[in-house]
Amino acid sequence: MTETALDPERRYLVPVARLDLPGQPDDVHLSLYEWLPRFEEWATGMALCGYSTTQGALPEGTEATCRSCEAYRPQYQAVLDAEVRAAAERVARKREAAHAADTPENGAWFTVWLEGNWSWVTKKMTTVQREYAADRVAAYSRYLAECDNELDLGEPEGLRWWREAG
Ligand SMILES: [Zn+2]
Repeated sequence: MTETALDPERRYLVPVARLDLPGQPDDVHLSLYEWLPRFEEWATGMALCGYSTTQGALPEGTEATCRSCEAYRPQYQAVLDAEVRAAAERVARKREAAHAADTPENGAWFTVWLEGNWSWVTKKMTTVQREYAADRVAAYSRYLAECDNELDLGEPEGLRWWREAG
C-alpha cells in the first residue's frame, strides 16, 4: 500500500508489528491506519486486541497472526465500509444539489453577473432582490465548479458588494 494511493479521508486496517519488549506475544497485529492532519502523517494506533504496537504499517500483504485481532477484524471492517459508503453518499448528495442548480433562471443570472456590470445592475434592486439574484449566481457557480470537478471555491468575489459596503 503506497501512501500516495491512500485517501486521507479514510481509515484503513493494516498489519502492525509487536512492541520489541519481553513478554509481548510474538504476533503480527492489526491496527487502524489514519491520516493525522496535525502531524501531516499517517499513523497506526493500538492493536485491535488492545496491545500496544510499533508505530507504522507493515508491508501490504503481511499476514496478521494475532487471533484476537483477527476476531475483531469483521467488526472494524464493517465500520470502515460504512464510513466509505457514507462519504460516497455525501459526495453524491453534494453533486445532486449542485446539478439541481442547473436551471435557466440561475444560468441567466450567472450570465448577467459574468457579462454585465453587476454592481450597477444590482444597485437598482432592493436588498431582498439583490440577495435573491446573488443566490442564483452562487448556485450556478457551484454547479459549474461541480461540472469541472473543481473544488467549490466559494462565492465569486464582490457578488454581494452591498454586504461589504455595510
Ligand atoms: Zn492483536
